[in-house]
Amino acid sequence: RCALPEQGDYGQISLSDGSRLELWANVASAAEADTARRLGATGIGLLRTEFFFLDQQTLPDEENQTRALSQIMAPMQGRPIIVRALDAGADKPLGFMPLGDEANPALGRRGLRALLAFPDIFALQLRAMLRAGRNHQLSIMLPMVTNPEELREARGILEQAHHTLEAAGQAHRWPVSLGIMAEVPAVALCMDGFNELADFVSIGSNDLTQYTLASDRSNPLLDALGNAAHPAVLELCRKIARDSLVPVSICGEAAGDPDIAPLLVDCGLRRLSMAPRRLPEIFTLLSQRSSHTHE
Ligand code: PEP
Ligand code: MG
Repeated sequence: RCALPEQGDYGQISLSDGSRLELWANVASAAEADTARRLGATGIGLLRTEFFFLDQQTLPDEENQTRALSQIMAPMQGRPIIVRALDAGADKPLGFMPLGDEANPALGRRGLRALLAFPDIFALQLRAMLRAGRNHQLSIMLPMVTNPEELREARGILEQAHHTLEAAGQAHRWPVSLGIMAEVPAVALCMDGFNELADFVSIGSNDLTQYTLASDRSNPLLDALGNAAHPAVLELCRKIARDSLVPVSICGEAAGDPDIAPLLVDCGLRRLSMAPRRLPEIFTLLSQRSSHTHE
């Protein structure tokens, strides 16, 4: 295994069909954002925020959340950043968000469902995002969306967050793009309903695979079954790329998997977001492949 290069320009590839392939980074810390910057990632395609809440007994206040997000965003100044709202569920209990026991947490109140059940926690996080992103090309992404109605409700809470900050004279990013993760098969199958409501879509292939193949992603005995290269998962990716009228990316682990990334490009995806350390290898692989199709 080669050591990770210190520096590089691994964010963009020109394909033989004239289109451009963009490599973005998934991050959850300032160190990862720094690696993403040094390796030339086009942007942050997924800033996960769960880490910040999991070890807290009480809800971190707006100042603390703003500060934590600002630190992660700083290295990627000048590049687009997609920050994801808290993706909590009964499988990762949070003291300040009592979801109750659930027999099937993966099918329960998680992601946006949980946020809509606790709108004050959601609004607080949105305010922190808007404040931290005030000098960034910020977008906000919602996890575990099922129906357009949920997105409409979330947009209302986001607008309210903006009004609250405005009334308080607090500097913040506005307007802001609001997008969804496509990780529930229903979203892939019914893109029409989201086209006029979502500003962008990002495929969460980890969960999309779990839900499409009815295969628990946390059960190692099912690892072989839960493969994003399954034709059913790829068909849903192809469908999203084809049916979406807004920008589409993919931010599940499959995007950084050398066996699967080329298949995703073949599905029509042109924006792959992955762990920063995956960038050099995926860049090299997909660049070689695009030059082969030239010959
Ligand atoms: C996914 O489901 O593919 C994803 C990127 O989100 P997470 O792995 O955080 O559920
Ligand atoms: Mg997910």
